Amino acid sequence: MKIVLQDLTKKFPGRGRKKREEVVAVKDFSFEIPDGALVGLLGPSGCGKSTTLNLISGLEQPTAGKIFFGNEDVTDLPAEHRGIGLVFQNYALYPHLSVKQNITFPLENLKGKDKLTKAQMNEKALEAAHLVQIQDLMERKPGELSGGQQQRVAIARALVKNPSVLLLDEPLSNLDARLRLQTREEIRRIQRETKITTIFVTHDQEEAMSISDLIVVMKEGVVQQIGKPQDVYDNPANLFVAKFLGTPPINVFHGEIRDGMLHIGEEAVLPVCRTENQKVFVGIRPEGFIVQEDGPFSCALKGVEVMGRDISVLSSNEASLNPTVRSIVDSRHRVDTGSGRVRFALNPRKVLLFTKDTQKRILTAACEVSI
Ligand code: ADP
Ligand code: MG
Repeated sequence: MKIVLQDLTKKFPGRGRKKREEVVAVKDFSFEIPDGALVGLLGPSGCGKSTTLNLISGLEQPTAGKIFFGNEDVTDLPAEHRGIGLVFQNYALYPHLSVKQNITFPLENLKGKDKLTKAQMNEKALEAAHLVQIQDLMERKPGELSGGQQQRVAIARALVKNPSVLLLDEPLSNLDARLRLQTREEIRRIQRETKITTIFVTHDQEEAMSISDLIVVMKEGVVQQIGKPQDVYDNPANLFVAKFLGTPPINVFHGEIRDGMLHIGEEAVLPVCRTENQKVFVGIRPEGFIVQEDGPFSCALKGVEVMGRDISVLSSNEASLNPTVRSIVDSRHRVDTGSGRVRFALNPRKVLLFTKDTQKRILTAACEVSI
């Protein structure tokens, strides 16, 4: 099912002393979600992810804008008629019901021509349980399951009515690190098998990047960028997106473009062609540093962490916005820890420039140089 969001806006009235200051939780959100896609909705806490999901599910009504499922305008359609499956961070299972009863619960209230017999319900429950691989746990109570298993039950319950849209709000946040990794791959597999259009909300950029066909990065209710994870990582629209994606995060410096050269501090570090003279923010991805004895960019060396295939070089630079500059280099490179300094050449594809005022990306023309 294709989902179309059209200028979606949600305002909440202010509370308490700030009564007059309404909160714009989502602002002018327009997006066409392709049929069968897994979309990661990503951003820091409070940026409007849950509100967006609640608008799509029908749990919240928009202040303005429209929502279409396929060609049908569902903006005024109650949640229970939208054909959605919902999964939240807290699995919200009924503790006194068995796994099977929890999964069949949404089927119990079907009426008229949709009404199912007990045998039909059990069959559907088993089908959903197979999909998330909990078919052997059907008679247990939620209290007898691990967190990961409980979340699978919640996913099975969301799938049992064959929803045309699956909405997941931070479904992995209550799981420990290893289960998180495993369950996110499970979700990806289930989504591929069922081809249900899915929206997956998370504040964890790695989670969103790893399983999504498309990611949407939000900040303060406003969509910053929509694209394939790798494209957004390589070509962030602004400094916020650049900083939000990537571990370790991008290194940011004060810099200046002067006569076709990018300067950081007094050093001319990279030619940038046909770009006006201006002060800029320079973002350098950790993998964009190349250790080179006569490299144009120098930093004070703080330490080296061996990580096996790669090494992480920790340094500092007066123009850096962060106390530590983190670079990841191939372990074949020798870093002379005796000198107290380290010199780098920079991979131009990993150096991103942003304006000082709007912090939007400056697209630089490729220069005909090789390093
Ligand atoms: P996220 O899920 O990204 O953490 P939310 O969508 O929950 O963010 O919230 C977005 C903004 O809207 C926040 O500032 C939050 O405080 C506010 N908000 C959310 N729900 C309500 C509500 N029912 N009443 C008032 N403000 C709300
Ligand atoms: Mg939320």
